[in-house]
Amino acid sequence: MPHHNLIDGEWVAGGEQVANINPSDTSDVVGTYSFATAAQTQDAIAAARAAFPAWSVGNIQTRAEMLDRIGTEILARSRELGQLLSREEGKPLAEGIGETVRAGNIFKFFAGEVLRSGGESVPSVRPGISVEITREPLGVVGLITPWNFPIAIPAWKIAPALAYGNCVVFKPAELTPGSAWALADIIARSGVPAGVFNLVMGRGDVVGATLAASPDIDGISFTGSQGVGRRVAAQAVANMTKVQLEMGGKNPQVILDDADLETAVTLSLQSAFFSTGQRCTAASRFIVTNGIHDRFVTALAQRVQALRVGHALTGDTEIGPVVDQRQLDKNFEYAGSAAEEGARLVAGGQRLERATHGFFMAPALFADTTPSMRLNREEVFGPVAGIIRVRDYEEALALANDTPFGLTAGIATTSLKYASHFRRHAQAGMVMVNVPTAGVDYHVPFGGRKGSSYGAREQGRHAADFYTTIKTAYIAPY
Ligand code: NAD
Repeated sequence: MPHHNLIDGEWVAGGEQVANINPSDTSDVVGTYSFATAAQTQDAIAAARAAFPAWSVGNIQTRAEMLDRIGTEILARSRELGQLLSREEGKPLAEGIGETVRAGNIFKFFAGEVLRSGGESVPSVRPGISVEITREPLGVVGLITPWNFPIAIPAWKIAPALAYGNCVVFKPAELTPGSAWALADIIARSGVPAGVFNLVMGRGDVVGATLAASPDIDGISFTGSQGVGRRVAAQAVANMTKVQLEMGGKNPQVILDDADLETAVTLSLQSAFFSTGQRCTAASRFIVTNGIHDRFVTALAQRVQALRVGHALTGDTEIGPVVDQRQLDKNFEYAGSAAEEGARLVAGGQRLERATHGFFMAPALFADTTPSMRLNREEVFGPVAGIIRVRDYEEALALANDTPFGLTAGIATTSLKYASHFRRHAQAGMVMVNVPTAGVDYHVPFGGRKGSSYGAREQGRHAADFYTTIKTAYIAPY
């Protein structure tokens, strides 16, 4: 039975049926999913528009309870949903379950936010007048998500959108419709009125482009690659649609001479290679000062070499497969270009065969890389990272900031002076001191600077900046 789209409260068959393939075992079909047409996407937008007037002024207790119910069901089913996630995306089961728990917690957090969102009352500079500043829902929002966090990213867009009174048209990534459908099914049974939440699975250039170009949408929240993000923004801005973009990274991890070697190596391993390096927050440039450089390279190479790569659902797997053949080819292309440009491979980098046919690759670590190499300039989005040797902290900071991206930046040091300086001067939305560049809390703002992000922050109470619009009212007594 194909899984259908949710439009105006009905499950609707799409224009084509697409098989969802397990990247750990390409003979395993996770399910068949109905991809929506452009016309169906328009129907979903129209349904959301029609539902907005009632929903936007609806009872907040009802809304809070609904979000809480969604969170409760996700948490209760975290093992089953985590398994589905790992099967379709390829991250190890523990990470799949962890991501699902995070999604449940996000709904719980925003259930609370429904009741906490208030306004401000301030005195006017004119006598006898009062000023009230309130937030109102933005309207109909189009949410476009990538495949690498197939339940958490949809959750961190859908939960605040609904909490603040918006209606949603949600378009998940082509590669991971399973988690999106399961989430939509939970939302559909939570008591949400028809049209308030719509799921349109499908192709980026069909469903995504229809959302981005629609004059009937008030906001587009997009997470994905920089190239697509720019296109989405250009289309949206033509209609004066509010846009929020979260895109790629080329995140630096600085290691200073005074760092604790064990801590530095462990957090570097986690930052660069866990989730197969397929995290926007993954570290991919290790910037290491002279005094610790050689010891760091040797120790990290040993740990990388020892990583257990395998089927995402097998007990002892630490690193799952790459998501698909296209991404695998891209990883090898970057590894090849690094080698051609003179980088020295110190661990991994080869195609791996396992009992099942999947997209397995040994994580690749290069030493002797230079800042200008393609590997150090462009986002790979795979388990391929390079080490750059530097003289001192000042050179490390300069190189950390020498990138068009600005999502996360990490430093490993025992010096309060350098930690504080780095926290202040790293040009990134998120700074990590002695913790991995990837792995963030769900209740605080998430986002970057420069080419990584555009518009308001996501998550935590700052999510209101995108999903609401501010009204200033001047009131004089009659
Ligand atoms: P992608 O840009 O290929 O796709 C993202 C989404 O956009 C998908 O749903 C896709 O179908 C859709 N899309 C494609 N073409 C479109 C178009 N013309 N119009 C509208 N929508 C379109 O990205 P991906 O491969 O799914 O994900 C990987 C990227 O996501 C990486 O660059 C990664 O850094 C980024 N990412 C960023 C964050 C963050 O929060 N900063 C988080 C996760 C992933």
